Amino acid sequence: MPMPVRSLPVAQNWDCSGCSACCRAYHVPVSAEERKRIDAQGWEAEPDLRGVPYFVAGRDGHRLNHRPDGACVFLGADNRCRIHAKFGSPAKPLACRVYPFLLVPAGDHWRLGLRFACPTAAEDQGRPLADHLPEAREYAALLEADTPAAVNAPPVPLEPGRVIPWADLLRLAAGVAGLLGDTALPLERRWRVVLKLAELCRGMQLDGGVNPKRAVTGNRLTEMVKALGRAAAEETPDAAEVVPPGRTGRLVFRQLLAVYVRKDHGPEKGSAQRGPLGRIAAAVRFARGTGKVPKLNSLIPDGATFAAAEGPAGGLSRQADALLTRYYRQKVESLQFCGPTNFGVPFWDGLVSLALTFPAVLWLARVLAAGGTDRDEAVTRAVRVVDDNFGYNKLLGLGRQKWALRLLAGRGDAARLVAWYGR
Ligand code: SF4
Repeated sequence: MPMPVRSLPVAQNWDCSGCSACCRAYHVPVSAEERKRIDAQGWEAEPDLRGVPYFVAGRDGHRLNHRPDGACVFLGADNRCRIHAKFGSPAKPLACRVYPFLLVPAGDHWRLGLRFACPTAAEDQGRPLADHLPEAREYAALLEADTPAAVNAPPVPLEPGRVIPWADLLRLAAGVAGLLGDTALPLERRWRVVLKLAELCRGMQLDGGVNPKRAVTGNRLTEMVKALGRAAAEETPDAAEVVPPGRTGRLVFRQLLAVYVRKDHGPEKGSAQRGPLGRIAAAVRFARGTGKVPKLNSLIPDGATFAAAEGPAGGLSRQADALLTRYYRQKVESLQFCGPTNFGVPFWDGLVSLALTFPAVLWLARVLAAGGTDRDEAVTRAVRVVDDNFGYNKLLGLGRQKWALRLLAGRGDAARLVAWYGR
């Protein structure tokens, strides 16, 4: 019996609009069984597929092949998947079926979210996410067969060695999502309150320490998170009182930005990283943070400068605030910021990594707006670019990135970056 799938309290809509962005942007992994199935579908009868390899072997196994124009070899001229059209959804690779759903294992159930890398998810178009539960249940059963360890997996630790039960972890997440959803405050301030809450909670023995009987659990934990949230709000200064991020914090942040904006394949593939020398030159320019922004992503306008991303932008419009609030509430409530869906980082470190996507989005939105893109549209595009990487780009899972997170949080630069780019 597969674990149940739970949708989230945050309102979110989605339906496939057939834009085909995912069939052009991603390298889709295929298992041996999927290759066998697709090989047996008789595609050699299609003139354009005759003699074309359907799969490409790589370091991590096989993936679907792409045409010279960048689209998957099975994408039809009508922007529809030919495997789906001819044999139905179950005939496609699992990765194609599941995208852009996010199914996060939470002990005895899966939590259902969406990847905002999908334009329709970012734009909140289509039916309520809860209407997709039947198909999500089907995918969850397939994922369970694929990764049985997800079933009844141990809870994600709050920090190394400190573990509380899943139900309490979800209470903490609900408390954080509540703070992020309190639209009475600007979002940059809400994020700084959450970072302060994380700072207050780190090192607290919520698990009871050596005496599990002293663990803070159930309603007591909910009340405690509320009280700590109020204390964090009182201790969070106005944005005008926050000093700008320090030199080291900015340097580390720009290295994170270089990972978030870089696209190596698909329609948004950049041109600056061609060849090892190009990659080194781009890394050096991000480290310096002066002059033109290397075009690591085709969306970066020609001639965009680092300086253009540093001026005040006047805060968020109502539309941009609604998009980002929905995005962050969903990330937190689905737990897609820690544990197996974010390179195994503990709960509090995962929250810091999610908080840093806020200045990353607003840095990129400034760069895009400087090139003439409408500011709200720039924020939407920036969310898509950043979400494409968050929890998925393996570079973000490297030890040096985890070290950078702790450095930015420990020096107070994470909150300063939030305030600086949120202004
Ligand atoms: S197999 Fe179909 S759904 Fe998957 S990437 Fe190719 S065209 Fe898109």
